[in-house]
Amino acid sequence: MIVILKSNPNPAQLESLKKWIESKGIGIHESTGNSHQILGLVGDTSKLDMDLISALDIVDNVKRVQEPYKNANRKFHPEDTVVDVAGVTKIGGGNLTLIAGPCSVETEEQMVSVAKAVKAAGATVLRGGAFKPRTSPYAFQGLGKEGLRLLKIARQETGLPIVTEIMEIGQLDLFDDVDIIQVGARNMQNFNLLKELGAQKKPVLLKRGMSATYEEWLMSAEYVMSEGNENIILCERGIRTFETYTRNTLDLAAVPSLKKLSHFPVVIDPSHATGKADLVFPLAMAAVASGADGLMIEVHNDPAHALCDGKQSITPDAFWHIAKKTLDLKNFLNTQEGK
Ligand code: PEP
Ligand code: MN
Repeated sequence: MIVILKSNPNPAQLESLKKWIESKGIGIHESTGNSHQILGLVGDTSKLDMDLISALDIVDNVKRVQEPYKNANRKFHPEDTVVDVAGVTKIGGGNLTLIAGPCSVETEEQMVSVAKAVKAAGATVLRGGAFKPRTSPYAFQGLGKEGLRLLKIARQETGLPIVTEIMEIGQLDLFDDVDIIQVGARNMQNFNLLKELGAQKKPVLLKRGMSATYEEWLMSAEYVMSEGNENIILCERGIRTFETYTRNTLDLAAVPSLKKLSHFPVVIDPSHATGKADLVFPLAMAAVASGADGLMIEVHNDPAHALCDGKQSITPDAFWHIAKKTLDLKNFLNTQEGK
């Protein structure tokens, strides 16, 4: 349920309304927009009398929210969420954030050279997996703690904040000094992990599960938000369909749809979505045209010898070209929209 207040509500009346709602065991998510102040009610609101609330002097309108996700809902939170990353950069709010780096951290030389190259091209966040969720237990599993150490060296060398994937709750302490914690497609519904990430403040990059609906994905974001962390970035990385030519099928409708249904920034990962280096550029452009707030792209200094996902990894030179074209396109679109 959402309660839309009249402008400049009487503070004493507002306080007593909030106390009354809370006394029924219902949480309140407050949001102040340009024109309206909104109280989003979270919990079992079935016993609340809508007519009684509507009749109050300070209340303009009361609406039931059908969707099961509340805090994640645009209706609760009309303004876009803009995620601050370590005070260095912001995701959302009209920016195009380029997140780039290898699939997995391999060596210091690889991390530092790729980080310098992607930064020079315009990336503002560095990616690299230290803990890798691999389909085969015999495939390279990532460098683990050592990978985190190498990522931090690359951050120190370039000033780029780092994003890396967590696979289980037990690893959380190791992520203290990471700037964005990534939840991979395979863990999108690891609800206990989501709750733990909600109980801390670092931004969470939540990838879409490979067969998850928008509603399931937003319910996962709701898990994080329900524990108090609003710093969520959604990442579409392709879903399973009957097509086998590409690794996954990029669902670009997710961008405008998720921006309509929720208030989070939406980032596209054309690398995992296609599994093919030559498809990264066209789909990156299409993602920007669809309104994406960012791109996550796998870049490797030597894709042919990458320990993971070499086929979809592009070279730093190719990234240079993609960064220029996508940033130009975003600027053009922003100008068209008068931003
Ligand atoms: C990744 O970004 O390295 C990754 C494993 O992606 P996904 O979870 O989307 O498969
Ligand atoms: Mn990968």
